[in-house]
Amino acid sequence: MNPLDPGEFRRQGHMVIDFLAKYYENIEKYPVLSQVEPGYLSKRLPSSAPQDEEPMEAILDDVRQHIVPGLTHWQSPNFFAYFQTNTSTAAILGEMLCAGFNVAGFNWVSSPAATELESLVMDWLGKMLELPRPFLFSGNGGGVIEGNTTEAIICTLTAARDRVLRRLGHNSIAKLVVYGSDQTHCSFQKAARVAGIDPQNFRALKTTRSTLFGLSPDTLRKAIRLDIDAGLIPLYLCTTVGTTSSAAVDPLAPLCEVANEFGMWVHVDAAYAGASCICPEYRKFINGVEFADSFSFNAHKWFLTPLDCCCLWVKDPNALVKSLSTAPEYLKNEATESKQVVDYADWQLSLSRRFRALKLWLVIRGYGVQNLRSHIRYHCRLAKLFEELVEEDCRFEVVFPRYFVLVCFRICPSVVAGMSNGHIVENGHGEAWKLNKVNRFNAQLLRNINASGQVFMSHTMVEGVYVIRFAVGATLVSERHVIMAWKVVQEHANSLLSMPASE
Ligand code: PLP
Repeated sequence: MNPLDPGEFRRQGHMVIDFLAKYYENIEKYPVLSQVEPGYLSKRLPSSAPQDEEPMEAILDDVRQHIVPGLTHWQSPNFFAYFQTNTSTAAILGEMLCAGFNVAGFNWVSSPAATELESLVMDWLGKMLELPRPFLFSGNGGGVIEGNTTEAIICTLTAARDRVLRRLGHNSIAKLVVYGSDQTHCSFQKAARVAGIDPQNFRALKTTRSTLFGLSPDTLRKAIRLDIDAGLIPLYLCTTVGTTSSAAVDPLAPLCEVANEFGMWVHVDAAYAGASCICPEYRKFINGVEFADSFSFNAHKWFLTPLDCCCLWVKDPNALVKSLSTAPEYLKNEATESKQVVDYADWQLSLSRRFRALKLWLVIRGYGVQNLRSHIRYHCRLAKLFEELVEEDCRFEVVFPRYFVLVCFRICPSVVAGMSNGHIVENGHGEAWKLNKVNRFNAQLLRNINASGQVFMSHTMVEGVYVIRFAVGATLVSERHVIMAWKVVQEHANSLLSMPASE
């Protein structure tokens, strides 16, 4: 056996590329949302491993027959759910190079190119986003590619925690308080748990429609004051640009002003919307980032780069290093001791790390800044088109303002028989939303749409209102897909509305 025989690598590699090329050619033929039942795969594949080798032809055949039906096709142009994780030829080839070299560039000496390319690409990208110089290596800050936003928040929160605990002593950990809004992604809650923050000191501050679901600086200030009066210590604020539910934007500058007054660390989570800020017209959404301590966005969402690729910049890399560096004997080397190099293991949770910078480098070089901007703008135009289609049909309403490519809509309360408003009807049993006819109607509409397999959308609930989320962002999406998606929505609405009203 030679598991890295160059001839076989070439032959089998071509087969897989051909397989994927065909997959992309046919992707619209598959139901977007997988139609399989739980446990389907164990009925189709053997329950124990083969003793002898099997040919790639047979394996790919099984992928075609058994794996593809169990995929929800995230790269389908008819995928409009969640936020996309889009990909591209350049990035997939970058992934191949990464897997082919398979270096574990935990410190500089373990693979200088992996470290230096990451630093270079993060400065490139930082400049594309017009991040202030203190976030760039050239301004004594720096960027790192983490696996995901959750890791980025855990790392920065840990750095912030230790910065305070070094001053006040470890026993103060029970007094540390972290702040976000009720729209902040749940990854913040997970990060706070991992960082040892007392769950009672996790503040998900209420947002309202009056601030378009952005966190109000006054609300933050009041919460901080209450905590200080109770003898607690404000530690960390997680702001969001482009919340998961409705793409709301927290007002960064005034929030940073409040947080800075109390010596807190401010993180900006722009996981999805950050990519748009390479376009000058969208850059305004991160105005105020200059007053924050860290900023992250997921290139693996809307930047043509596949999972996993969360870009994190910090103004003070030393804060990360002080918390996350371990320096065991078996990793000691002259480069590290010279303090002239970056050792990225000290900026993240794990030791080993993939050469992820390659895919980002290939994307930026392979398409260039102008094309990347055009790609973002095209998606925004498509989202606007969908929004206009919704608005033209008086039975529907767009529920939140659209800043980027997420359109949140529903059938209007007045159209659902017997309801004159869309508010929750309490039944006293804690399942209020189930009693809400409008919500139930819209939920049924979404179920029917997705069951058709023609498109896939998702939902959220804000202030008790159930909305259907339509997020543009697939690499292959075009106008005809958006128009078709709207037709699917209308068809299912027509048939649902023509059914006798149920209580
Ligand atoms: N933050 C926001 C605003 C998100 O939309 C998401 C995911 O959609 C996350 C964080 C979680 O990101 P990850 O899966 O990279 O941890």
